[in-house]
Amino acid sequence: MPVGNVSRVQISALVCLSNIPPLFYIDTMGGRRIWPASFRTIGAMIDSETVARAKCTCCGNFFDVDLPALQLRRGDNFTLINRHLVCKITSCRGTGFFAAAAHLDDRLVTLFEAALDPLDLGELTPRDLEPPEPPTTMGAALARVV
Ligand SMILES: [Zn+2]
Repeated sequence: MPVGNVSRVQISALVCLSNIPPLFYIDTMGGRRIWPASFRTIGAMIDSETVARAKCTCCGNFFDVDLPALQLRRGDNFTLINRHLVCKITSCRGTGFFAAAAHLDDRLVTLFEAALDPLDLGELTPRDLEPPEPPTTMGAALARVV
């Protein structure tokens, strides 16, 4: 039975040849995608200080992903690749997917099959999603105190 565009026979061959779980090989229009080692597991993401976000495909909101909390609940070897989540916005409850970047200024990569990328993040970086810097002028500081 085919899984995506890769048959189970091909997946078995990949497992035998590479000793890496097939989850990390994604067929993308005839090519194979090999996920960076730092994105493969929660433990690796934490060790490499990977930045993880999630986006709801229904309401479009982004969420921070608490990797240490996931590690406590699911363990080091849990992966966010090809997983989805239920949006926590009360009026939404849509489906979301995970994305990761090596650093705040690196492009976010949807942790899902590239041919089916549900987030289509383009050149978006985690820094683009950060709140604006607070004003640093003395007047702004005084305005906050008053
Ligand atoms: Zn939502």
